[in-house]
Amino acid sequence: MNMDDSQIKDQDLAKLSEEEEAFRSSIGTMDSKGKRQWVFPKKPSGKFTKYRTWVSYFLLAILVIAPFVKLPNGNPLFMFNIPKGQFIIFGFPFFTSDFFLLAIGMIATIVFIVLFTVVYGRIFCGWICPQTIFMEHVFRRIEYWIEGDRPKQMKLAKQEWDEEKIRKRLLKWTIFSLISFLIANVFLAYVIGSDELLELVKEGPNKNWSTFIGLIVFTGLFYFIFAWFREQVCTLVCPYGRLQGVLIDKKTIIVAYDFKRGESTAGRSKFRKGEDRKAAGKGDCIDCKQCVVVCPTGIDIRNGTQLECVNCTACIDACDEVMEKVNLPKGLIRYASEENIETGQKFKFTGRMIAYTLVLIAMVVAINSFLFSRNDVEVKFLHVPGKNYKIEGESISNVYEYTMYNKTNGDLRVKFGLKSHDDGKIRVLDGPSTIVLTKGNVQQGVVEVRIPMADVSSYKEPVTMVALDENGKELDEYLTSFSAPY
Ligand code: SF4
Ligand code: SF4
Repeated sequence: MNMDDSQIKDQDLAKLSEEEEAFRSSIGTMDSKGKRQWVFPKKPSGKFTKYRTWVSYFLLAILVIAPFVKLPNGNPLFMFNIPKGQFIIFGFPFFTSDFFLLAIGMIATIVFIVLFTVVYGRIFCGWICPQTIFMEHVFRRIEYWIEGDRPKQMKLAKQEWDEEKIRKRLLKWTIFSLISFLIANVFLAYVIGSDELLELVKEGPNKNWSTFIGLIVFTGLFYFIFAWFREQVCTLVCPYGRLQGVLIDKKTIIVAYDFKRGESTAGRSKFRKGEDRKAAGKGDCIDCKQCVVVCPTGIDIRNGTQLECVNCTACIDACDEVMEKVNLPKGLIRYASEENIETGQKFKFTGRMIAYTLVLIAMVVAINSFLFSRNDVEVKFLHVPGKNYKIEGESISNVYEYTMYNKTNGDLRVKFGLKSHDDGKIRVLDGPSTIVLTKGNVQQGVVEVRIPMADVSSYKEPVTMVALDENGKELDEYLTSFSAPY
């Protein structure tokens, strides 16, 4: 080979590797000028698509029904009334006074998500995320139904605005708008509760203009996301998607292309009937690009892990179908870690996965018991600053400031009692002895505790005060100290 030949070869190789690596500096849905490239994914079918469809319909049913389900205590399953600071999680009410609990619950949930992602990658994105479920199992399905599969959609997009295109687009946009309006109503039910939503529906928009405008705005937002913005939510907006790069490692389970098997020593190449691919050193990938055309984020999984991949499994099904047709083993694209692929191992639960999973289960139990084991009523008694004990006759008195939270969804009538000293007395100084505690509210006031001298044996006598309901049932207790002269 002369000098010129080798220079030309070097240049060719450099160009080739530049082209191969181009995907790293771009995203599949934009051209080099940053212009949106519309994705027309082929309708997926296969084992994983079937499972995902069932999971999606199940989750959709829960999402839509949950705010309308009433538990025996009268609470809905979920409600997130941000304007009023009221939250109901699994039927348990939380108020702004529980902010601390919710904050800890949220931090624990973030730790949970991080650990989960380290082990299981983006399984959440592909199977559970509402964006994926609505996009792939609601809106995209309607699109396939009206406009047909990928080739027909591409043809329609290029077509003039004739009768067929206007009819199909109008039908699609109308159905998309109605579903977006429905989703906006469901989300509103999560915020204000189903009773209030049904009341608003009965009264009509005339009496509830501001709510109706809010609904229209959110309908527009959902329409914009599912009719136009689509996969860009995952590739450009979602912070969870952005975090993947730092959370996943070589041991994380992802949807992966087995490059060792697919490329072998001579690389991928088209299928030729009767050819001994093994003898020719050719990989099992027949370069049919079915995994690419089916991808809803427009990427080529054969380029390796990419931030656009939402682990939707569509490419697994597409490739398995191809492998079956050409009589090669399935699983060229499959759930595996990079390490599995490199070492040629099959997927198996490793010690790390089991350990992380046990930690995740423990966290779920801890988060739930932490959030849901708190009392319906919480009471605290603190000494009034600057006031010490007082001796009157044969007894000693202390004054406390009380703070009481009602964390139920109903009003309560509460009395105080002294649990630790039978002959002691507790008296509300700034109001009636029965305190009316309205739902979700906090009440403060002052009480006096009086104990016979003979029953006090320390200068810091431990005392337990209790809050009781009108039937004498204990709602909460508080242990504090009682000051005395000895
Ligand atoms: S579907 Fe499978 S065989 Fe076809 S290009 Fe993708 S990886 Fe290769
Ligand atoms: S690469 Fe495969 S799993 Fe990832 S988004 Fe595309 S089709 Fe789904």
